[in-house]
Amino acid sequence: MHAITHFGLLRICTCVMVFLLFLNGCQRDREYNAEFIVFGTIVEVTIYGASDEQAGQAVTELQQMFQNMHRDWHAWEQGRLADINQAFASGRVATADQGIVEMISRSQAIEELSGGRFNPAIGGLIRLWGFHTSEYPIIGPPPDQAEINKALIHNPSSRDIRVNGLQVRSDNPHVQLDFGGIAKGYAVDQAIELIRTKGITSAIVNAGGDLRAMGRHGDRPWRIAVRKPGGGVIGVVEVNGDESIFTSGNYERYRQDETRRYPHILDPRTGWPVADVASVTVISDEALLADAAATALVVAGLEDWPEVAQALGLGQVMVIDEAGVVYMTKDMAERVRFTEDVEQIILGACSPSAIVGQTEGVEK
Ligand code: ADP
Ligand code: MG
Repeated sequence: MHAITHFGLLRICTCVMVFLLFLNGCQRDREYNAEFIVFGTIVEVTIYGASDEQAGQAVTELQQMFQNMHRDWHAWEQGRLADINQAFASGRVATADQGIVEMISRSQAIEELSGGRFNPAIGGLIRLWGFHTSEYPIIGPPPDQAEINKALIHNPSSRDIRVNGLQVRSDNPHVQLDFGGIAKGYAVDQAIELIRTKGITSAIVNAGGDLRAMGRHGDRPWRIAVRKPGGGVIGVVEVNGDESIFTSGNYERYRQDETRRYPHILDPRTGWPVADVASVTVISDEALLADAAATALVVAGLEDWPEVAQALGLGQVMVIDEAGVVYMTKDMAERVRFTEDVEQIILGACSPSAIVGQTEGVEK
């Protein structure tokens, strides 16, 4: 009896294993994966349900497009954006490209809606803090307050820029564009658009954990990991259709001295890095908005994020503070399935129907 049961089990296990292998084989036929490094991060492209030829062609073009963006929009190396910044400083007109023009005009709106918390014109301040580097952490004390004041007094804003076709100029010579908080989002949107023009309907473009997904993984939704401060995954979100998930945090790129860390996201109003928020995750249709908004909400901090999220028209936001407490909009809470215990979950108001206060019962 015992032996038969064992034998039966073995047969079932073998069948299951064969079945799983078969499934795996099928999926490998239908799933196409590619990986390359650009923007100082790993970009992973996953395409489902297309021929290898179709997918390969899309990825080749996409990689070329990303490399061109990296070259043209670099915030501190020589290139088109550096030329534009030099022209701004000397009051000359410069020639941009379509992407730069779109990022300027979207930034102008997002800067306004976020109450100046998102501001890509503070390149001078970012340079002053030493964040124009790929080598982290930066060791050393913060810049002198006098230097910070000097950078702040001129109030650089994306709204000082005037655009005429591809011609751009700035009314304020202190405007120095740095698209570090928005370019990845714009690039991911363009990548999904490119993939779509190849007739592909299911894909993920993932740039270092920030991504946009469209379609489905065959007969199931895409399952997307939500990053947590310090690395790792805090939860999973299922995506059906077309959505972007971006996380900004203070845990990867920072300056450090003996007393504390100074993260790379600056409050344009004070000139100082933001402290109380460890990470912000935004889900939105568009990667550009998710990217810029995540940066803006880090600046907004624990106090102001619900108000700024609402101003930006966002429904799905998750904020994690330094102690690991999770704050979320109701719509976000309905989406995330936590993969590990979280310290505490607080639902924040972002729409009139949302609840404020601690909550039980969110599936962990
Ligand atoms: P990450 O995904 O690495 O957390 P973000 O998308 O938040 O990065 O962008 C951070 C980058 O944006 C900084 O490295 C800097 O280039 C730029 N930046 C910093 N502060 C601001 C700000 N307040 N508004 C717009 N851009 C900013
Ligand atoms: Mg960003």
